[in-house]
Amino acid sequence: MISNITADYRARDAAHHLHPFSEMRALNAEGSRVVVRGEGSWIWDSDGRRALDGMSGLWCVNIGHGRREIAAAVTRQMAELSYTNTFFKSTHPPAIALAEKIATLTQPHLSHVFFTGSGSEANDTVVRMVRHYWAERGKPAKQVIISRRNAYHGSTMAGASLGGMKPMHAQGGLPIPGIVHRAQPYWFGEGGEMSPEEFGIAAARDIEAAIEEIGEDNIAAFIAEPIQGAGGVIIPPETYWPEIARILAGREILTVADEVICGFGRTGRWFGSDFFGIRPDLMSIAKGLSSGYLPIGGVVVSSAVAEVLSANEFNHGFTYSAHPVCCAAALENLRILEEERLVDRVAEEIGPYLQRGWRALADHPLVGEARMVGLIGALELVPDKPSRSVAFPDTGKVGTLARDLSIANGLVMRAVRDSLIIAPPFTLSFEEADFLLAAARKTLDDTLDAAR
Ligand code: PLP
Repeated sequence: MISNITADYRARDAAHHLHPFSEMRALNAEGSRVVVRGEGSWIWDSDGRRALDGMSGLWCVNIGHGRREIAAAVTRQMAELSYTNTFFKSTHPPAIALAEKIATLTQPHLSHVFFTGSGSEANDTVVRMVRHYWAERGKPAKQVIISRRNAYHGSTMAGASLGGMKPMHAQGGLPIPGIVHRAQPYWFGEGGEMSPEEFGIAAARDIEAAIEEIGEDNIAAFIAEPIQGAGGVIIPPETYWPEIARILAGREILTVADEVICGFGRTGRWFGSDFFGIRPDLMSIAKGLSSGYLPIGGVVVSSAVAEVLSANEFNHGFTYSAHPVCCAAALENLRILEEERLVDRVAEEIGPYLQRGWRALADHPLVGEARMVGLIGALELVPDKPSRSVAFPDTGKVGTLARDLSIANGLVMRAVRDSLIIAPPFTLSFEEADFLLAAARKTLDDTLDAAR
């Protein structure tokens, strides 16, 4: 039963709001889920039902919902200077402080930040930046960007083109030219008879094969998420990133780490690049930079790249590049992460605790693999456990069913194909972790019953 308030919200929503990424048939039939409040790890719907936000919104509310300190910082900044631009040789104190702060958190060679409003804008910026970089260095033929199948790099024309999601390419005439998609290190789904270690090497060597086919003289960059998030929390085998490093070493190809999900502590290190030992030339950031309190993203670049880009005007920028209020929210978020030692908490306390319980779900008859790093994890649901087959006959149906049952059990998880994904806030308590694990197990049982 839904209340009159919810019915009213749903009717008005259906009348005027076009939703991003939503299963339209189900949305039209069932109406939207109306979320009205968030506090800590929890969100409440318009009927007063609460659910543990196991996805931190969209992998972003890392410090938890409702932090009054952010509201206060934002209010102060709005009263002081609500907006000014950073074009035409201008700057302002929050932009200066935030760029400086980010440079202290990243690897020492990463020194400068170009601000954007989102992760997609960050990756659009990457495309223009790496091509411009090589043109400035007198190598304008270096245009191609190598990405990976099933990658997610955002929803704008360039972001979705960099991404390797077929359903996204199928709409709007994508990808744009000059983007090549090669193997992803998805051992569970694509590793066949190989061990994870063998498959990690093989997936990396497919990138090497692409470089040889296309020719280094034509390639600007290789872009990858340290852990593919929206593709299904694909944690690469241990051999993958070292092999990529070997392949790119000494080659004139920029390494771009898309840290939009992994960045700012999700893996238990400040960046996924630190976790895997990647040495990126550029990093896309967003989400965890402000814990989603206000939209802000950016591209962090090495001093070598910054030097080239600083020589001549880069004809690129957004009205909201380094929006002062968003910068203030991000600065306060980073202060909270540091003062409350939340990244260490992911590495040493709540992360290992949740990982232990999560991996134990692998004993369930529906679960083919339970994987997690830091506070980002997936359960691969399978029809036939011993054979490691990922193929339910109607891909996505069981995953979506499980996701909906999970919400009914008071836990927000996300479905990717037939896997279930979590990325809870870093502030998750041990009791909340226990709740999450119990709700996930009940969801698996309910899914098994419903699918029978
Ligand atoms: N890159 C990655 C790895 C992401 O996961 C996302 C969003 O989920 C993006 C880029 C796009 O960010 P935004 O939605 O802020 O444009």
